[in-house]
Amino acid sequence: MAELTAPERGDEVSWVRAHLGDLVRGDVDASPIAGGQQAADAVLANFSVRGYAARRSEVWPTDRRGASRLSPYIRHGLLSLPRVWDHVGRGPERDSTTFRDELLWQEYARHVYARVGTATQRSLRYAVEERVRPYDWPEGMACVDLAAGELRESGWIPNQTRMWLASQWSVRDGAGWRDGEDAFFRHLLDGSRAANRIGWQWTVGALTGKPYGFSRWQVEKRAPGLCAGCALAHRCPISAWPPDSPPEPRAHVDPLLRRDPDVAQTSGLAAVAQASGNAPQRVWLTAESLGDEDPALMAYPDLPVVFTWDIPLLQRLRLASQRLVFLAQCLADLAERRDVIVRTGSPSIELRGIPLVTTFAPVPGWRRHRASLDVTRVEPWPWLVPPHDGPVTSFTAWRRRARV
Ligand SMILES: Cc1cc2nc3c(=O)[nH]c(=O)nc-3n(C[C@H](O)[C@H](O)[C@H](O)COP(=O)(O)OP(=O)(O)OC[C@H]3O[C@@H](n4cnc5c(N)ncnc54)[C@H](O)[C@@H]3O)c2cc1C
Repeated sequence: MAELTAPERGDEVSWVRAHLGDLVRGDVDASPIAGGQQAADAVLANFSVRGYAARRSEVWPTDRRGASRLSPYIRHGLLSLPRVWDHVGRGPERDSTTFRDELLWQEYARHVYARVGTATQRSLRYAVEERVRPYDWPEGMACVDLAAGELRESGWIPNQTRMWLASQWSVRDGAGWRDGEDAFFRHLLDGSRAANRIGWQWTVGALTGKPYGFSRWQVEKRAPGLCAGCALAHRCPISAWPPDSPPEPRAHVDPLLRRDPDVAQTSGLAAVAQASGNAPQRVWLTAESLGDEDPALMAYPDLPVVFTWDIPLLQRLRLASQRLVFLAQCLADLAERRDVIVRTGSPSIELRGIPLVTTFAPVPGWRRHRASLDVTRVEPWPWLVPPHDGPVTSFTAWRRRARV
């Protein structure tokens, strides 16, 4: 469709407004969480894992929180899981072990998605309703207002309030979890189909058969004092636990969840081996891997870099503008060190005929585009743990076989 000049640092909001404004609802604004390699490096440098185990689930007041807020950078490959894993190596053992367990959850979600792809749109093991009826979170409960407001305003919320919102949506109010997943995905700066779908499936019971019950008890524990200012404090709709109604196991479970017959496809090593090896002319960057340590960027330090805003996809997704600004910030930051070419349109069409080098990305969209492009070299994805051929039916089953 078009080649554009790359956004410049400090000007990303106007850049998104000018070039992508018709893809978002409402005006364009930036999240307080800034995108870009320099921002990612600064957040990681300032993150100390000390106290993480005790405070990772705290919600409010916000200064009690222990979560790292690294997820937007991890999601877009500005910080690789191995780098973050190493960063916490010298912290107190309990804290670094707990933190590393969470990194493994991220890796687990990526492995599941790399293996079964769009099958994660369906409830994987237990039959939980996916699309039931239009829904939005109720207004007036201080806990739900806090979490939903923060999600919309900043594009990031802690794991604890993700569980509250997902449970309120599906377990309490019976709405379809896929619509909830889409609602999160529109706003979260770290929104990935891999982790978001596993997070929803886990919370609503589609993965384990045990839905997470959200009640006032968690709010009083994780956000002490919040209920006192709630208009519904004396007629709290979540004062009791939700009824215990575990979902039925699905009659058919995808056999790929139990065994992977082609680990080289899943891990990307097959794609690396199949590339022709001819000299590339551009590094093709995707939203999966926008960091300076992207393997293809590192392997070809002198080649221009090309990034395509996938307009057909964005028209469908209607992401919150903060997500687009975050990505524009990543490109603007990179453009200070590399020659960055920005295009709009479908990558399969925009990049057709150009010999490309790129990093394997463990998502179905990468495979789809790559099939119609002249990708002459593929660099391997920086897994934290190499994918194995054993079960991914649960985190525990996957972990048993993971070489950590
Ligand atoms: C319903 C629901 C939806 C979610 N959607 C997403 C999503 O779209 N993208 C996403 O990256 N995470 C998602 N998560 C997982 C988790 O909530 C976030 O990764 C975490 O809250 C990010 O904040 P943080 O960086 O401060 O995490 P920290 O607690 O500081 O953890 C460090 C890193 O570990 C990883 N991590 C932590 N907890 C989890 C987890 N439960 N599952 C997978 N990885 C984890 C993340 O990469 C995170 O950045 C979801 C969880 C739920 C319950």
